[in-house]
Amino acid sequence: MCSAKTFPANLLKMKNNIAERLLKIKAGIPQGVQLVAVSKFHPAEAIKEAYDAGQRIFGESRAQELKQKFEVLPSDIQWHFIGHLQTNKVRMLLPMVSLFHSVDSLHLMEVIDAEAKRIGSVANILLQVHVAREETKFGFSPDEIIEAIDTPQIKNMTNISVRGIMGMASNTDHIPTVEAEFKQLAHIFHDIKSKDIFPEFNILSMGMSQDYQLAIQCGSNMVRIGTDIFGNREY
Ligand SMILES: *Cc1c(COP(=O)(O)O)cnc(C)c1O
Repeated sequence: MCSAKTFPANLLKMKNNIAERLLKIKAGIPQGVQLVAVSKFHPAEAIKEAYDAGQRIFGESRAQELKQKFEVLPSDIQWHFIGHLQTNKVRMLLPMVSLFHSVDSLHLMEVIDAEAKRIGSVANILLQVHVAREETKFGFSPDEIIEAIDTPQIKNMTNISVRGIMGMASNTDHIPTVEAEFKQLAHIFHDIKSKDIFPEFNILSMGMSQDYQLAIQCGSNMVRIGTDIFGNREY
């Protein structure tokens, strides 16, 4: 026998949970801090629940998955791309994505700029900076990013708006480590901002489910929260 009898009750419970968790998190986030609801690996129905509770910014990490959700969900959703970005996905993603969080090379910037020129748009991007101890994470190192923004090519990228930086702290319970990394990211953010190279440079994207409160204390104004809203992901 199938479990049709219990299924609707479970679904209802899950639905309420998403809206409830979302609203609770939002209530605890100061004004001026934007919430990106990270919906990767969760179905369109889950996103719709958060949408109906008022959420409009969603983060996805895979190009094809974002496209499928984009096609079935309301058009006033702002899609943020937070996963590792490959140059061959830029053309497909550009018309759908309002902010790219994970731009990690000059070459990728050039590709985005060229594609945005081609379709007559301006792409909003964050430069991903790697400060965590994990070696697998992508991004510019703190030295590389300062070097990169000083290169002459940057000035010719007229179809990119560099809006800020994105970073992740180490995946550890050791709070002083996480705090030091967030402080380092905040320092890099203010350093670049003070150089006045990018007119719209005002986003510091840092903080996930397990560390967003600390990130906000360290100056984050955009947090990316998945698990605490949608529950665990099944990969
Ligand atoms: C998956 C992901 C998140 C969300 O992580 P949670 O721990 O589920 O909140 C945030 N940022 C990036 C870059 C991610 O890949």
